[in-house]
Amino acid sequence: MSRIYSVLLTLLFLSAPVMSVAEDSVPLHVLKVSFDLEQHKLFGESVITVPPGKTWNIVVGRLTITSVTAHGVPFEVQKNTESITFNPGQNQGTLKILYEIDSLTGPGRMKEDGIETANLVGPEGIALINAWYPSINGLARFRLSALVPQGFEAISEADEIIVQEREGSREFSFIFGHPVEGINLIVGQYAVKKAQHKTMEVHTYFFPEDKELAEKYLDQAKKYITMYEELIGPFPFKRFSVVENILPTGYSMPTFTLLGRDVLRLPFIAETSLGHEILHQWFGNSVYVDRTSGNWSEGLTTYLADYQYEEIKGMGAEYRKQILVAYESYITPEKDFALKDFISRTDKATAAVGYGKTAMVFHALKGLLGQEMFQRSLREFYEKNRFRPVSWTDLQKAFETVSAKNLDWFFKQWVERKGALDFEIKDVMVRYEGSKARISFDIVQKSALRFQLPVLLKTDKGAIRKILDAEKEAASFEIETEDIPHELVIDEHYDLFRKLMDNEVVPVVSMLLGGESRICVFPKGREKEYEALSDVLKEHGFTSKKEEDLKYEDIKGSSLLVPYDAELVKRLYANVQMPEGDFALVVKQNPYSTKGVVGIISPLSAAETGKYLRRVTHYGKYSTLVFKDNRNITKTINESENGIRFLLAGDIAGVEMPLLTTATEVVNKISNKDIVYVGELHDRFDHHRIQYQVIRELYKKNKKLAIGMEMFQKPFQKAVDDYISGAIDEKAFLKKSEYFKRWVFDYNLYREILLFAQEKKIPVIALNIRKEIVTKVSKEGLQSLSLEEMKDVPEDMDLSDMEYQKRLRGHFESHAGSQARNFDFFYQSQVLWDESMAHNLNDFMTRNPGYQVVVLAGGGHMAFGSGIPKRAHRLNGKDYAVIMNSEDVDKDVADYILYPLPLPFPEAPKLGVMLKEENRVVSISGFSPDSIAEKAGLLTDDLILSLDGEKIEAIEDIKIHLLYTKKGDTVNVKVRRKRFLFGEKEMEFTITL
Ligand SMILES: [Zn+2]
Repeated sequence: MSRIYSVLLTLLFLSAPVMSVAEDSVPLHVLKVSFDLEQHKLFGESVITVPPGKTWNIVVGRLTITSVTAHGVPFEVQKNTESITFNPGQNQGTLKILYEIDSLTGPGRMKEDGIETANLVGPEGIALINAWYPSINGLARFRLSALVPQGFEAISEADEIIVQEREGSREFSFIFGHPVEGINLIVGQYAVKKAQHKTMEVHTYFFPEDKELAEKYLDQAKKYITMYEELIGPFPFKRFSVVENILPTGYSMPTFTLLGRDVLRLPFIAETSLGHEILHQWFGNSVYVDRTSGNWSEGLTTYLADYQYEEIKGMGAEYRKQILVAYESYITPEKDFALKDFISRTDKATAAVGYGKTAMVFHALKGLLGQEMFQRSLREFYEKNRFRPVSWTDLQKAFETVSAKNLDWFFKQWVERKGALDFEIKDVMVRYEGSKARISFDIVQKSALRFQLPVLLKTDKGAIRKILDAEKEAASFEIETEDIPHELVIDEHYDLFRKLMDNEVVPVVSMLLGGESRICVFPKGREKEYEALSDVLKEHGFTSKKEEDLKYEDIKGSSLLVPYDAELVKRLYANVQMPEGDFALVVKQNPYSTKGVVGIISPLSAAETGKYLRRVTHYGKYSTLVFKDNRNITKTINESENGIRFLLAGDIAGVEMPLLTTATEVVNKISNKDIVYVGELHDRFDHHRIQYQVIRELYKKNKKLAIGMEMFQKPFQKAVDDYISGAIDEKAFLKKSEYFKRWVFDYNLYREILLFAQEKKIPVIALNIRKEIVTKVSKEGLQSLSLEEMKDVPEDMDLSDMEYQKRLRGHFESHAGSQARNFDFFYQSQVLWDESMAHNLNDFMTRNPGYQVVVLAGGGHMAFGSGIPKRAHRLNGKDYAVIMNSEDVDKDVADYILYPLPLPFPEAPKLGVMLKEENRVVSISGFSPDSIAEKAGLLTDDLILSLDGEKIEAIEDIKIHLLYTKKGDTVNVKVRRKRFLFGEKEMEFTITL
């Protein structure tokens, strides 16, 4: 019930017109309270005197009203009313309300940000911070007296506190020097410590067990007061106190700050949060916030406190970047709002705008006006606006007065509009004119906002920095230099409140918790155990899904929380090394989405997960977190690029020609490697000749050699083995291995290699996965596979090589029809292909220890080690070398690149026909230009029965037959032809190849 009241109260606050602060126009509110601590009960007397000529609305919410009188006469109020309407008429009027509140037992559960507003009255103390007296909207002058038991100390917003000892109790009277919107009362068995700071007093109200912390807090408080007096102006009150609270709060009220017990004990609070709360004495507690036009004080306080402390340590840019990452993580278009609509933080999203964005706006303002003028404006602002509600417009006025500039555009743009700068840098170009270089680029904005773009040009001589003014939707800029330009970096230090580019972001906890859709994946077999987590998951906005129900769309469209032993983790990242601890969270990029992340957790117990999950919200900026014994022991952020960067003259790869070597030398150098990869362009015979030579040379040195081939698929290993052992001949081998069905290239390209393997009995490994599976995955994704087909898919697959993904994307997009296809599925199929080959290679090497293997596959499966080599290495840790053929020189593309000259080879003759195969019948569906078959008299729709008497039942039968012919040979073709009206007829033709 108290929550309802609190909401109501807040709403009324907001809609209230801002009152003038002239003393006589401000109501006087005299409050007397006493308590029954055992019964959690408050007894109150509220005497409100209001100025004449107006109707006043006094909110009583859920207070139990026992009596209301106006000037001593009973005043009629409705039972259970939530507010009392009072019009004093021509003279000022006084209303006296007697009331009680029951069951003040404190908070139930902490909210997301640890902010709790429930009141407490109990033997341990009193914390009245929310709707504990009848309240009038707007400012009032308060007098408060509270009767508390012996041994208790009380504090409230007051410059003066008077204590009178009474029989068995103490009466505290509080006198407030200035009108305020509301007051709070905190009572506890405190050990009070006092220090003098110039003419004011600084106090700590700590529980006896924390009294040794007092010294440190008093020192730090004095330090911050001095710092902000120098920056802004004299401290607004006669006293200041740091008060420890039983409840987990972090508040600042006029004259004191209320810090929760657990917060106060944290070692870093005195250095960080205390400064923020003290600064609120200036902004928020003496210059009040006119909430009707947006709360500017949190962002300003964050900028001059939390941010400032990092800036002093040289970490300003990092802090600013974290603000941008938080905005990127928690803010969706639906959740975004303008600063004029910010009231207070209720979750991460409201904090990202109200605190984060506002701080960035003050940073931009400082950049615009300069440090000196910025500071002068703040002093002026404070001086002119104390003890009155102040809006963004008042702030604007202060800055305009001091700077003599019209800042209307600035405040309109940043306070009244939502969103961040959203621009692209395009057409970065360098032109040389004589000895001068001109670097030009365009800025294209989503909406035409005005801002100052920090540009850094790195040259051979050093760095050139420029601030460029941007304000149009599209604008071109040019920088001139006598130096050689190397790199252009835009907003390297995150001075702009803007959208980040993909490569500026690394996966962090806030992206996991801020994702629009969040799914916790329940691992197979432990769904029951994880059910227990549903409360904490709901709190964090996660829905849950059983692993087997998880679809590709779920992975792509959501942030995922996954226990590390889930199959999904293996299918996305192969093996993830989890750090040791009671609880670890590792956040990784989602391979299917640049914005989505996957949070992997260990250990596996749902109970531990639930316990620690509540804590990780406070560590939003980190990528890896480890907790032990309830304490955080590791927190790290992965490296990412800073700024939007364009390489103008990168390091160009070069080779020192004397290093040029020969293929023989290369083979000598790699002969001790466990695995030798030799890449090919499939149709280049010279590449296959190199492969043959490598095999031959290695075999000379090592008879325990095997050959792994992409060209054969695993289910056909037996056919390969039978051929090598001599159990079947070449023809049977080609038929049984389905070579021509599964690999389109002329067998003559590989024949030398296989003949050598056969002669020397060198094992050949069919490395590839069944073609049907790869084709299906590339069209419909991994999830389209049946359970039976999934048996062929390796359990662990690593999709996290984003550089590889980028290269494959380029390749994918350059192919026609890519628009209609899903790149993720194509990517899955490529990785599946690579992983299968790596696994099949590893299986062979595990079963046949001591073997050296030469792997023959397309260069794409080897370049940069991304395809097979690194994956096989992940599985077996074996030493390897990669030799590529006719490849462009690029860093790390291979260990060696060979440049063979194209070679002719005895191509198998072709008939020049297009063929169709159906029910073991092959027919002609068309002819290629200059077809020898067409010339010999064959016709479309002829059924081919035999070649040289050999029965034809499949297209591959024709290919196999032709493999054993050569140019100039004749082939006898027997066909069956359907004739109009005359029925079928068998015919024979002789074709000269
Ligand atoms: Zn604050």
